[in-house]
Amino acid sequence: MESIAKPLFTWCRHFKKSAGCGIYEERPHDCRAFICYWLHVPNLGDAWRPDRAGFVMHIADGGSRLNIEVEPINPQAWKAEPFYSTFKTWAAKGNQRGPMLLVWVGRRCFEITPDADIDRGMVRATSRQLGRTAGVGASVQGSSAGLRARNSPVN
Ligand code: SF4
Repeated sequence: MESIAKPLFTWCRHFKKSAGCGIYEERPHDCRAFICYWLHVPNLGDAWRPDRAGFVMHIADGGSRLNIEVEPINPQAWKAEPFYSTFKTWAAKGNQRGPMLLVWVGRRCFEITPDADIDRGMVRATSRQLGRTAGVGASVQGSSAGLRARNSPVN
């Protein structure tokens, strides 16, 4: 993220453990614009809170993708319950028209489908490949070539 000089896959220097953002009132536009999917789905309980679940979710590409960004320190967090069966339900609902469910563990991507978890490989661009520092949104955009798109949100 250029506005805070944060390279990919590193902690923001403004983040304070147990306190959150150290510059919350003055945080840059990129941070204000980020929409955490957990905050927007009322029936997802506290277990889905990103610091408890071990991943953060966000909609991208105009609703055609749900990105699930997993903490690299716990790369299997998305396979725990109640998450995994819920992802499979969403994948089944969205199979024809809904968003593609993409799990990101660092640069590695897995697509969740009703029948399988497809390893898409190391498809996320590095900061060097992007030619600059970048945040989650930019990295997803930088890695999107070759992945198909769909158009309606998970519900
Ligand atoms: S909101 Fe932005 S500035 Fe604050 S800790 Fe998070 S990434 Fe850093």
